[in-house]
Amino acid sequence: MKSNIKEMNIKELKVFFQNMGEPSFRAKQVFSWMHRGIFSFEEMTNLPKNLREKLDEVAEISHLEILKRQISKKDGTRKYLFGLHDGNAIESVYMQYKHGNSICISSQAGCRMGCRFCASTINGLQRNLTASEMVDQILMVEKDTASRISNVVVMGTGEPFDNYENLCRFLELIHDKDGLNMGLRNITVSTCGIIPKIKEFAKDYPQVNLAISLHAVEDNARSKLMPINQRYPMDDLLQVCREYIQQTGRRITFEYTLVAGVNDTPKHAQQLMSKLAGILCHINLIPLNAVKENQWTGTRREAAEQFAEILDKKGFPVTIRRELGSDISAACGQLRLNQKY
Ligand code: SAH
Repeated sequence: MKSNIKEMNIKELKVFFQNMGEPSFRAKQVFSWMHRGIFSFEEMTNLPKNLREKLDEVAEISHLEILKRQISKKDGTRKYLFGLHDGNAIESVYMQYKHGNSICISSQAGCRMGCRFCASTINGLQRNLTASEMVDQILMVEKDTASRISNVVVMGTGEPFDNYENLCRFLELIHDKDGLNMGLRNITVSTCGIIPKIKEFAKDYPQVNLAISLHAVEDNARSKLMPINQRYPMDDLLQVCREYIQQTGRRITFEYTLVAGVNDTPKHAQQLMSKLAGILCHINLIPLNAVKENQWTGTRREAAEQFAEILDKKGFPVTIRRELGSDISAACGQLRLNQKY
């Protein structure tokens, strides 16, 4: 079987080339071609022809297949459905902001966290994505848009902390200065609250932004929306958040998806504030994208604004997620769900 060398970091590539009897400086050359979005050895023009041919026999450079591409006429947001080599499909979203281009990537095909309102979890977890499949989402979108991406959010399908090793390898690969050279502070990882991994992440990647999905702060209510709360309840989660902030000195983003009539009343805003008092954070309100497979709907804009105002008045930094690509606003995970292979 050919090795997928995009999985390898430079150190491993050096060993790979040494084993082929090649000088180790080839590692950096090939690494930087691959991470510049070159998908064939043929195009690596600073390698001798016989080496390119040899590489073709023993190695392959992974890529994704574009199955679907939706482009917003309003703001250029693009939603991609990518096919993986084994028939699974994943989604990525490309967004343009004043400060640069951003991509939201998936970390798993499917998800086993079971959040009730989320389309990604409906058919459970198919499998973890490899590090190169995460990198390829960036490379494919950069190529397709002929643009550079400066910000990465791991907020697509999947729970990144349920795929921790591959996530860390992915972060290492995209941070490499010979590759995408992505600044750690330009990367955000979002979790539903897997406590042991939050602790590890504070040690492994203190500079990467951490976002935590809350959606409710009262244990019963949160467990109803997010089964993970039964395993890692609210007070334990908030304790680990305090430790995280103490260790890293970094602010945490709390995501709060507003579901009409479920968690969006002034009473819920009060509960949220009393739990988050004293925690260095930013609150990101996300009006729910309705998913046709379940019964819930999103909070209307005015009600979301009222909710935000209550928090704002008490000095909590809060934003309502800007609606990008509203004309292609199939909820997260829905393109994938409708894909029949
Ligand atoms: N598993 C991680 C990351 C993926 S979900 C996490 O839970 O954070 C990314 C964010 O999108 C989460 O806050 C999630 O709750 C939210 N989300 C999921 N489905 C949604 C929907 N239909 N509408 C709005 N937000 C949704």
